[in-house]
Amino acid sequence: MTTVRMDQLSWVEYARRVREDATVVLLPCGATEQHGPHLPLGTDALLASAIAEDVATRLGALVAPALSYGYKSQPKCGGGQHFCGTTSLDGQTLVALVRDAVREFARHGVTRLVLVDGHYENQWFLTEGIQLALRELGEGHPLRVMRLEHWDFCTQATLDSVFPDGFPGFALEHAAVIETSLMLHYLPQLVRLDLIPDDGPADFPPYDIYPSRTEWVPPSGVLSSARGASAEKGARMAMDICEGIAAAIRTEFLG
Ligand SMILES: [Zn+2]
Repeated sequence: MTTVRMDQLSWVEYARRVREDATVVLLPCGATEQHGPHLPLGTDALLASAIAEDVATRLGALVAPALSYGYKSQPKCGGGQHFCGTTSLDGQTLVALVRDAVREFARHGVTRLVLVDGHYENQWFLTEGIQLALRELGEGHPLRVMRLEHWDFCTQATLDSVFPDGFPGFALEHAAVIETSLMLHYLPQLVRLDLIPDDGPADFPPYDIYPSRTEWVPPSGVLSSARGASAEKGARMAMDICEGIAAAIRTEFLG
């Protein structure tokens, strides 16, 4: 049986793939965070992993075990830290985790690494971890790293068809149509369509307050309705996302 998952290979097979085949390695980055009553706490890491495996299958690449904890949930894009189950890292912890992981892949001989981010709040901490690792490795080191947020690969045509009444924006899409549809496509057994709440779209002012105003956030944790979600929309978006990521990797790393 062939697998794209690093954690299902022996070190001997992994070393051969990395050192002889110069295999691209994808590292999914997620969070453990409430995603409303209808999606699991692991949604961000589960989706980043599913997408990474889909892309890896197309390219003959490998997928490393996901970083399953992420930066703190923010009220306007993840509902905030006050929900039971949301389990987050300080920024410096996440930066150090990413820096250490990148440095280890470099030590293995990986020269092309792709961080597939599935948690909105992670972006700049992943960037910082990558940059610190590259600085440590020094100029002239062959490692090249790509970082991406998977939803950015949805084409405008697909977004227009998925949101006929207008797209609320990626931040408000927390636990809403995009994530619920992608989960229905990849992991339908983990979705409770009967529990989708009627909340949203949430209406936030153009500033933040600390400590957070939990009353700004719908009690369900869903920032805009997931009612329009479907497996078919998930399949359409997954196709965009995976073809787009595979094309970017071919252009940057396999050309
Ligand atoms: Zn999410």
